[in-house]
Order: sequence, then C-alpha cells, then structure tokens
Amino acid sequence: MGLRPVLLNRRVAGMASTSLALALGVATIGLLPAATTTAAPSAAVTADEVCDDQTGTLARAKGGGAATHDPNQLTIAQVHQREAEFADILQERAKRVGQRMLNTQAAVATVTIPVVVHVIRRDTTRAGGNIPDSMIQSQISVLNQSFSGATGGAATAFAFQLQSINRVTNSSWYPIRQGSTAERQMKTQLRQGTKSTLNVYLGALSNGLLGWATFPQRSLNVMDGVVVLSESLPGGTATNYNQGDTGTHEVGHWLNLYHTFQGGCSGSGDQVADTPAEASPASGCPTGRDTCSSSGLDPITNFMDYSYDSCMYQFTSGQATRMINAWNAYRAA
Ligand SMILES: [Zn+2]
Repeated sequence: MGLRPVLLNRRVAGMASTSLALALGVATIGLLPAATTTAAPSAAVTADEVCDDQTGTLARAKGGGAATHDPNQLTIAQVHQREAEFADILQERAKRVGQRMLNTQAAVATVTIPVVVHVIRRDTTRAGGNIPDSMIQSQISVLNQSFSGATGGAATAFAFQLQSINRVTNSSWYPIRQGSTAERQMKTQLRQGTKSTLNVYLGALSNGLLGWATFPQRSLNVMDGVVVLSESLPGGTATNYNQGDTGTHEVGHWLNLYHTFQGGCSGSGDQVADTPAEASPASGCPTGRDTCSSSGLDPITNFMDYSYDSCMYQFTSGQATRMINAWNAYRAA
C-alpha cells in the first residue's frame, strides 16, 4: 500500500513488545470486539492505534498491527462507560443552565482554543527534533482549516490560537514513549493552563507512532493533551502523513471523537449517526471501500479514520455536534 519501508520496519521492530503489553493490559478489563474485515491481506499492514486504560489515551501509528488483531479499539464496555458519563454530564448541565444542550448545532466557530506547543528535542538540530516555528504555525493553520470546514467538511465550533511555543531540550524525553514514566514526568513538568487549554507535545515518538491523545475527563488530568510526531506537521518528513492531519485527528479525540471504525459494523459504533459504520481502519486511500453491509461507503475521507493525509479532509455535522456538546460538558470554563 505504499508505506515507506523504513517506517514499516521501524514499526514492526517495535511492535512485538508493545502489542504484548497492550494485549495483556486489555485482557485484564475484558473482551476485545472481534474485528472483522474484508480488507486484502496487504491492508492488514496499516495504521494502528492503542488504548491505555489508565489514562484513556489513544495513539495513532503507521505500519504494523494486523487488522484482525487490533488492540487499539476501546472495548464495548469502555465506550458504554464513557457514554453514560457523557450523558450524565450533559443532563446535569442542561438542568443547571436551564436549556437543552443535547443536539446543539454548531454551525460557526464559537470557541477559540488556546494552544501551547511543547517542542521536545534532543538537541538544537532539526534531526534532534528542533523543528522551526513555521511548521508549528502551519499546523495551527491546518487545524483552523480542518475544523472550520474549509477543506470540505462540516464547520465545527472550534478555532485555534497559538499561545506559546516552549522548547525543551531533554534527551530522556526523546523519543516520547507512550505510557511511560518519562511521559508522565514530562507532562507533569510542562503542562500549562486549564481543561480548555490544548497542550501539544511534539517530538520523535516510540514504536513508529504518529501520535496519541487523551479523551476529556471530568477533572483535569495532568496527562491531558495530544502528542504528535513532529515530522507529521506540514513540511515534515513523514511521507503520506506530513500534511498535519495527525494533529487534526488527535485533537478530534481530545474533543471526544472516536474512530470511525470504533465498534466495527455492529452497535452504535463511534456514537455519531452520519459516519457510516466501518469494520476496520482504512489504509492509504481505498476509494469505494465498503466493509459493512449497512448503508454507506466507509468514511475513508474522515479525519477520524487512518487514511493518508492526502485522503482525509472532513468532519461530519454529527461529529461537530458531538464535539461542541463535549466541550460544554467537559472543557468549557
Ligand atoms: Zn486515533
């Protein structure tokens, strides 16, 4: 499917221990939804995502991970638990503010999110992770275009404003290792602002990952934020994934979106009605892909799938509604 061998190798080399650890972690809390797929064998080497139950963290990666053994999806039980809490908070808020917050339509930008960017670097060279300000500014532009609907999707309520760039030289945080003690130390020392502040950590990432994110939680958790491969920013070196859509995808999680393939073909999937069900992550840009018998082709152009950056360009209005409801429930001041 055109994945760069170097990236594939990097992912495969790091997969064994990661998969084992994750499989063990997931096994302690129950079943994995049985992923069914009609994808060709070559598509089994695809982007991959992991779930850390401790922090609710999601990670996006390229390469590795067979689609039939995907430890990255949330379990059905995890989704049910999160959705029950989400509904409770919305109801509480509706009572408090005296208006119905469910199904709020978000047609225009009404929330400008302050963004603090932490550049984690080994040294002051580009190879050491010291990307220029221009790439970060381009990433902010990509977020604004993606979330405004300017790239062809639904307009969401959100705009983004760069507040500061914090450059940190620390070889023990480079690469950033998902779920590590070092990651927690890094975030404990660096995170700024409130629940409504988007903290973005940029750097080299372990195991070929493109990024990961935390879902919103009732109380501010120091782990809150998104981690993004610095070379996935616009102008970066991550071939097929260097137009800034990893940033958009991870911020989608930060605003409470699941993957379009969450839950596969059955059940309520990603909890969004206007994203057709999808059995497994898409890889590359497979036009006409249709992995579920329910209506609608797979939403391969959605930011919450795993397609190439050149392939994904939209959120749906259902996702926009879910995000503003989640903002009001979890992150609004
Ligand atoms: Zn994801």
